[in-house]
Amino acid sequence: MTATQTHCPYCALQCGMTLTPRIPGVRLEPAEFPTNRGGLCAKGFTAADLLDHADRLLTPLVRKEPGNRDSPLREASWEEAYGLIAAKIRESQDRFGRDSVGAFGGGGLTNEKAYALGKFVRVALRSSAIDYNGRFCMSSAATAANRSLGIDRGLPFPLADVAEARTVLLVGANPADAMPPSMQYLDAGRAAGAKHIVVDPRRTNTANGAHLHLQPLPGTDLALANGMLHIAIREGWIDEDFVKDRTEGFAAVKAATNAYWPERVERMTGVPERRLRETVRLLATEQPSMILTARGAEQHSNGTDTAQAWLNLALALGLVGKPYSGYGTITGQGNGQGGREHGQKADQLPGYRRLDDPAAREHIARVWGIDPDELPQPGVSAYEMIDRLGTDGGVRVLWVLASNIAVSAPHSTHVIDRLKSLDLLVVSDIFLSETAELADVVLPTAQWAEEEGTMTNLEGRVIRRRMALPPPPLVRTDLRVIADLAEILGRGEHFSADPRTVFDELRRASRGGIADYHGITWERIDDEQGVFWPCPSEDHPGTPRLFAESFPRPDGRARFIRVEHRDAAELPDGTFPYVLTTGRNMQQYQSGNQTRRVKALTVALPEPRAEIHPDLARRHGIADGDLVELRSRRGVATLRARLSDGIRPDTVFAPFHWPGANALTNPALDPHSKMPAFKVCAVTIALADTPEGTTTR
Ligand code: SF4
Repeated sequence: MTATQTHCPYCALQCGMTLTPRIPGVRLEPAEFPTNRGGLCAKGFTAADLLDHADRLLTPLVRKEPGNRDSPLREASWEEAYGLIAAKIRESQDRFGRDSVGAFGGGGLTNEKAYALGKFVRVALRSSAIDYNGRFCMSSAATAANRSLGIDRGLPFPLADVAEARTVLLVGANPADAMPPSMQYLDAGRAAGAKHIVVDPRRTNTANGAHLHLQPLPGTDLALANGMLHIAIREGWIDEDFVKDRTEGFAAVKAATNAYWPERVERMTGVPERRLRETVRLLATEQPSMILTARGAEQHSNGTDTAQAWLNLALALGLVGKPYSGYGTITGQGNGQGGREHGQKADQLPGYRRLDDPAAREHIARVWGIDPDELPQPGVSAYEMIDRLGTDGGVRVLWVLASNIAVSAPHSTHVIDRLKSLDLLVVSDIFLSETAELADVVLPTAQWAEEEGTMTNLEGRVIRRRMALPPPPLVRTDLRVIADLAEILGRGEHFSADPRTVFDELRRASRGGIADYHGITWERIDDEQGVFWPCPSEDHPGTPRLFAESFPRPDGRARFIRVEHRDAAELPDGTFPYVLTTGRNMQQYQSGNQTRRVKALTVALPEPRAEIHPDLARRHGIADGDLVELRSRRGVATLRARLSDGIRPDTVFAPFHWPGANALTNPALDPHSKMPAFKVCAVTIALADTPEGTTTR
């Protein structure tokens, strides 16, 4: 039996693995790849369990009574499903205009699929209505990096560089749970004497091994960063040469930090002044140093400015562009990086081009063989699109791919209402997710091990996803479905179902863009264990490390941007006195549509646990293991309590992998990135009087 080298279907580490067909199923083994070096986490080890899972969708489904979502789903042929979809698209666009039909993509789609989906919406539907779940993931750090550094590549250096840094500041990041094999680099650094500081309201597994753990009140990270910059300025730790030669705008930022004196920052954040000072001292004097942020810092209604504040600190200390040093953000979803580069964002064309840029429109229209005037203008962001579903001027026919927004979007009860109001909901998935359960048409799609394509990992390394076995007979790849529907809609000549053909077109489309893949070929990826973008030509080596010489901005300089603390969009008060913050468990991935079906993972963690400090629990008569009811202004969720003195007494943590946590969360959006405020909302807590199990209402 032939072994196939491929990568894990889950997170952005994209660990290498080997699949060998056997009867039945496949044998999955970890592979030596530069990111995981033979490591896998429990999710990766069990990923193949889903290939022949009993819940697998094997044929299209439609409602027994068309238009009645209370009627059961029944099996249908592809022709019947396509016929229903095409008829509704035509009817809706005739009655309500082109933008009444749209698509919602995902950061798990391959580069080819993300590219083809963006093109499908613009060319076949001629609609502006497309966005994706990466808006809920990476958008704040991406916006900050674009405006300050001129480019958004999560890590501007290979992950292995982390092991060489003497000081690493991790802000709102918990790789020990989210991507355990990555810890080998942090562990190696610690073994060599590196000092690590973790900023997190919870004492996570990552924080447990750190030199310092700072526990700010959720929503105050920006003040923390500005306070550290204040100290760095006062102590004379600014890299004056770097600031003068390679940046602009420092004077305004310096002036702003005057107001963030340590005593005030301690009051705002709850982090003792001496810990602030020690953190800055290490970053400034024990170099090389890195500052890495993740969703804990970014999923806020001021997430862009918060990421910027950490970037400002990294620039002021002269960390960026130096060996084993710098600022980075840790991408979450499997193709969270590539998925945000090639056109499934509302305002974007492939290659990280802007849809409102006439030169970009001209270039892409030429590659696509259409008139630039055919391209729609930018649409609205993910939550804005969801919020308007089924309304006048909103989308009425929606196709959702690789996303389970009924669980993963904020204020999920409202999201479910909006999905139910659609004239037609089409969901492509491998299982009947909570979103697919609401659909009029469900399309079964091929899994990771059944398709070819490319992904771009958290380092900006473009890698190959390889097919180890064919999909079940009636299951189709998303690329095939996109090409089929385009054909039915009369634009078939612009689309291909062949991933290599699509990738070669993507290469041409990205040429000259910020995310330039032009020089990357499948052969090079095979020979070089992935190729780092930007890679403008086939004789270019790719770019593992960015910013050594200059920044890709018009003047070559990085830009400081003055940012000020703003209160979270919703603060605790007398009625809702505690802060809820949401996050991840080691055993689950994203909305759990896949991992909640893996027996080994559910045995290890059968249900979500609300993490509560013993002092808070005592106040409400809650014991470990009790069912507790969390209530916000938007909804209610019932979870089992896990008492931990590692969390702040004013904060409750709930994982978002099950329905529940997002019934509570606040959809207030960051004005720049349109990121919802997943990490802070105000809640009450009480012993539940509901029967066993997690509920939302
Ligand atoms: Fe690696 Fe992430 Fe897969 Fe775990 S989930 S094996 S860390 S890629």
